[in-house]
Amino acid sequence: ASKIIGLTGGIGSGKTTVAKFIEEFGFPVYYSDDRAKTIVNDNEDVKLKIKELLGEESYDEKGLYNRKFVAEKVFNDKDLLHSLNEIIHPAVRIDFENWVKQQTKYLIFKETALLFELKLNKDCYKSVLVTAEDNIRTKRVMDRDGKTYREVEAVMEKQMPEKDKIKLADCIIYNNTNLEDLKEQTERIIFDIE
Ligand code: ATP
Repeated sequence: ASKIIGLTGGIGSGKTTVAKFIEEFGFPVYYSDDRAKTIVNDNEDVKLKIKELLGEESYDEKGLYNRKFVAEKVFNDKDLLHSLNEIIHPAVRIDFENWVKQQTKYLIFKETALLFELKLNKDCYKSVLVTAEDNIRTKRVMDRDGKTYREVEAVMEKQMPEKDKIKLADCIIYNNTNLEDLKEQTERIIFDIE
């Protein structure tokens, strides 16, 4: 069976960039966020439950997920966010398990922002954390998404602090410099896993 490596990092840490490098080195990556975005549109059971929880407006007239509406509904309502996650996370888990069954490489990667928060590292052989200084991450996300400093900070404040993640991670990539350095660190870590 393949060894599953969890790949995580906070907003703007560079985890997706690292995941792309990993693919370039020939290893498959499961992108949990991307898959979740597909699942909320494709999984009829999930769609039904979300509509029950948040209302018909959760989907537009074409049946497409209304991300903005849902985000606004749950942003400052912990209970509602929890209930929404209780619908989405198990569906992603099942989707991941199916994906794993199709893999043949000895190392496979699961990219997820919530590796430690959801204790998904328990099901991984090793965990890799991508981290960078808060101000660097903020600047990168502002440039990438055109978001304001405050908007990025608001997301960051809701995530598990970096110092806690650093304690939990088996391997750490410090992404404070450039992409060349990031790629080198990624390569070293992948080929050091045994
Ligand atoms: P999110 O959780 O917000 O999706 P992420 O952890 O997946 O973020 P990326 O999207 O990989 O982060 O990186 C954030 C932005 O910073 C991207 O635009 C990426 O190209 C850029 N970036 C990442 N690492 C570096 C680096 N070392 N040098 C320059 N730019 C970088």
